[in-house]
Amino acid sequence: MNIQATTRVLLLVGFIMTVYLCPAQNLAVAQQTINTLCGEDFSGRGYVNKGDSIASAYIAKRMKDMGLQGYTSDFLHPFELSVNTFRVAQVKVDQKQLRPGLDFVVAPEAKSASGNYKVFYVSPKLLSSSNAVKKVKSAIKKGFVPVLCSYDPSNKVLVENAAKIKKSLSGAVFIQLKSSLTWSVSLSQSKNTEIELVDSMFDRYSSEISVSIKAVFMNDYVSQNVIGYVPGTEKPDSFIILCAHYDHLGKMGDALFYGANDNASGIATMLDLASYFVNNPQRYSLVFIAFGAEEAGLLGSLNYVRKPVVPLASTRFVFNMDLMGSGDKGATIVNGSIYKNEYQALTKINAENDYLPVIKSRGKAANSDHYFFTEAGVPSFFMYLMGDYSFYHSPNDSPDNLHLGEYYNKSYQLVRDFVVYLN
Ligand SMILES: [Zn+2]
Repeated sequence: MNIQATTRVLLLVGFIMTVYLCPAQNLAVAQQTINTLCGEDFSGRGYVNKGDSIASAYIAKRMKDMGLQGYTSDFLHPFELSVNTFRVAQVKVDQKQLRPGLDFVVAPEAKSASGNYKVFYVSPKLLSSSNAVKKVKSAIKKGFVPVLCSYDPSNKVLVENAAKIKKSLSGAVFIQLKSSLTWSVSLSQSKNTEIELVDSMFDRYSSEISVSIKAVFMNDYVSQNVIGYVPGTEKPDSFIILCAHYDHLGKMGDALFYGANDNASGIATMLDLASYFVNNPQRYSLVFIAFGAEEAGLLGSLNYVRKPVVPLASTRFVFNMDLMGSGDKGATIVNGSIYKNEYQALTKINAENDYLPVIKSRGKAANSDHYFFTEAGVPSFFMYLMGDYSFYHSPNDSPDNLHLGEYYNKSYQLVRDFVVYLN
């Protein structure tokens, strides 16, 4: 083989590697991003141990290193919130220590409590009776902890009676049994300590429950959004926003809520897109925003819309990504039925390139960071992927359980092509 042929072969090998290895490299980078954001030192990207600040500093550094420009020197845009957090969360049933986050969760608004209590079981029969409230109150006076049976949320009588009981208690500790658990974040603290327990961890002959909950309510906590951009080549004063929230639920005692799919996956996709568009700038300026405090009621995006960094009137489109780790069952587009032309374009790109198996359309929903943009009149989509991955707001939404597959790259390519179409 002569040198020229060798060169040609090497060039060909190089070309094949570029074409075929890029997606694989993408996947490795994305997996690494998710692993980092879900690391122990990020504390679930909540408010215990300043997990949110550690995560936003990491994202800001990634943006800076890949060559994005910032509207502030550190890429950070602070805002305040008040939030309830849990430093200790321990529950024992008959001396058996339960696993926080998996066997029980503390209601997000609960206050501190500790003690050993005799159980007062509120059976379905008692819960449906008219003197349920009276009986529960007198049991609490005698030092019992009420344990409310789980009930079908479509059973009106039981739902109403349970609500009446909870409303009538002040300063009490009580247990609500549930068939499954999800956790969230609260911006306020209540007078009670409600603990949700998985049914299987309790039987009606359980007699004693010990509780140790330390809740810390933080006033005027400073969190932040992270914003970087790629200037447009022809119309730098018009903007397209690509966003994803980086925050998650943080820690509840020793339980770490990793938030691998929700929403380390969305940040991984957004950073991959940013790194592509740094090298492939478009006509319009592209703004990349990692929002904070989404799980606390869309607070990062609400603060942004109240004090936008680029004018809302010049923001042509917002594309929000949340839950981007699966995709084997396709994607859903919130606002797809409102912005019909854009939805049609997106589904056309998808069909032509054989990206995702199906793209479904929904109307408005206040379920992620696109919402306040829509309300302010800025056209927006919220895309989430669907698949067999079912862990949600649980410590099981972890990088060990989330395995990115071929649809990671396909959804990335779909969003990339759609952004190019918008230009
Ligand atoms: Zn989310």
